Amino acid sequence: MTSAAVDYVAARCVDEVLAALADGETSVLAGGQSLVPEVTRPGSPPCRLVDINRVAEFDTLAETGGFLRVGPLVRHRTFESDAVGGALGDLLRVVVQQIGHPPIRARGTMLGSLAYAHPAAEWPAVAVTLDAQIVLEGVTGRRTVPAESFFTAPFTTARRPDELLVEARFPVLPEGTGIGYAEDRRNSIYPQAAAMATITVTDGVISAAALCLVNSGPSPVRARAAESALLGATLSDASISAAARIAAEQDTARLADDASRPKQRRAYQVLARRALSNARERVARCA
Ligand SMILES: Cc1cc2nc3c(=O)[nH]c(=O)nc-3n(C[C@H](O)[C@H](O)[C@H](O)COP(=O)(O)OP(=O)(O)OC[C@H]3O[C@@H](n4cnc5c(N)ncnc54)[C@H](O)[C@@H]3O)c2cc1C
Repeated sequence: MTSAAVDYVAARCVDEVLAALADGETSVLAGGQSLVPEVTRPGSPPCRLVDINRVAEFDTLAETGGFLRVGPLVRHRTFESDAVGGALGDLLRVVVQQIGHPPIRARGTMLGSLAYAHPAAEWPAVAVTLDAQIVLEGVTGRRTVPAESFFTAPFTTARRPDELLVEARFPVLPEGTGIGYAEDRRNSIYPQAAAMATITVTDGVISAAALCLVNSGPSPVRARAAESALLGATLSDASISAAARIAAEQDTARLADDASRPKQRRAYQVLARRALSNARERVARCA
């Protein structure tokens, strides 16, 4: 079997991209790191691609109005540098180092990863952890979707087939915030399980906390019970251990209900404790 015919359009501006997507059957070609292997696989059906790599205005990264705004051609590797400051920059730098290897990070884009919506991928987890907003545009206009509603199932999002992800907006994290990430990858391309955390301490107590469990269900999930337990507590071994236990017991409802569940819960407890402990170390460093 040979691979299928690919109908290819190279767009030069946003209007050309949106016009190409209007048929609802065209795929966006960004970094190509997930799409190209799919469309060139032997036996894959014919497809139509719109290449966005010549649209210069898509390569934008800006911090305005309390948000970091990331455009469709910002590559993973951008976040390896100190392009973004503060705790948000820390989280992006820690996370990007886990993604693939240097050629993947040089070509692949953050928005491509959000659109692809692999349930264990790093950028969707960052978006859910930080309550990011995903901005979509089609020929009929723009709309903004909160990250938690954007990821609906593995490889499935709220994006309509004629829409382009034009921006992801991440809130800048306040002073006194520490971030943490821990994963169990075991030689696979994507992590088997991971936990991501941000903790903000104000006047000695936790004033904001986000904990996200990655690959515990069809999309990244916030550990709301654990977050509630952390709010108002002092940041200590005891509060971290208690929150990690609550996350494993109460926030893993979407794990498959089979014999592996107790073991997976223990894994999430360990990962949550590590992510929260990493965040605590960073809070201590900036105090
Ligand atoms: C060997 C290998 C290892 C990898 N390891 C990891 C890893 O550890 N962690 C991780 O998270 N990822 C990993 N990846 C995936 C990588 O991060 C991809 O770059 C990413 O998933 C897709 O980004 P892209 O720009 O390459 O998108 P593409 O491959 O161009 O597109 C992916 C999908 O998103 C759509 N799309 C892209 N951009 C837009 C847009 N702006 N609007 C609407 N739709 C859009 C495309 O149509 C397509 O359906 C790995 C990939 C490989 C090949």
